[in-house]
Amino acid sequence: MSDFGGAVKPLSGNPDFKIAVLGVPFDEKSSYLRGAAGGPGAIRAVSTGKCYCGWTELGVDLEEETVMVDLGDVDTSGDPDKTFGLIEKAVAGVLAKGAVPIVLGGDHSITYPVLKAFAAAHKPLDVLHFDAHPDLYDDLYGDRLSHACPFARILEDGLAESVVQVGVRAVTSAHRSKALKHGVRMVEMKEIQEPLRFKFSNPLYISFDMDALDPAFAPGVSHHEPGGLSTRQAVQIIQALKGRIVGLDIVELNPGRDASGITAAAAFKIVKEVAGRIVRP
Ligand code: MN
Ligand code: MN
Repeated sequence: MSDFGGAVKPLSGNPDFKIAVLGVPFDEKSSYLRGAAGGPGAIRAVSTGKCYCGWTELGVDLEEETVMVDLGDVDTSGDPDKTFGLIEKAVAGVLAKGAVPIVLGGDHSITYPVLKAFAAAHKPLDVLHFDAHPDLYDDLYGDRLSHACPFARILEDGLAESVVQVGVRAVTSAHRSKALKHGVRMVEMKEIQEPLRFKFSNPLYISFDMDALDPAFAPGVSHHEPGGLSTRQAVQIIQALKGRIVGLDIVELNPGRDASGITAAAAFKIVKEVAGRIVRP
């Protein structure tokens, strides 16, 4: 299993845990590509204390200041209805102990059964939803439990008092109507304006190390350091800067770690945007 930077303790001897990790290797409600079922395993594998410590940036030592356990995976071998029931039951079990569940998915469909369990323990509940998509479809290809639908079900069932969606950028008019009807606050990417505005009075050279971007956007670098700039933020900085650009380098792209080619695509995007500013300062 895992150790989350050494923070996870064995369940035996720690019955009064405060935080419980729960894996849900389930991707049967994915509408396009399967693979999210590998999420829990991948997160556990990467979390090893051989690579990371249990300290947060704000100085919390998870190893010392809480009791964190890993309850393993929910059994997802049955049909989806059965799996959803088991997800709800597993989460309810954690909540019944007064502990906090950390659920590793899995596709987004699992949030519906998870929040069903929360309704019994924590009501009213507010939800902050980070996603490119509102996940508010009534159904997708006839499936009302698709990973494109969980927030429609959550709102219809009154499982959330308020929902704030952040990062949304794939919205249909039906989504908008649904969001309006249920009072969902949808913060779309196009509304998020936060460019750092730099001004240079001398000729400007830009050196762009690709690991400045968050590895979610640019995995093809040698040193994965989460918490970085999004590609959008980088582009905004370039677009907003004032100065006469006279040179650029793009460094540290590691194609061996760039399985999808997205990092190369991001590098090209940066080049393009800078070129545009060279052409039109
Ligand atoms: Mn989603
Ligand atoms: Mn999404």
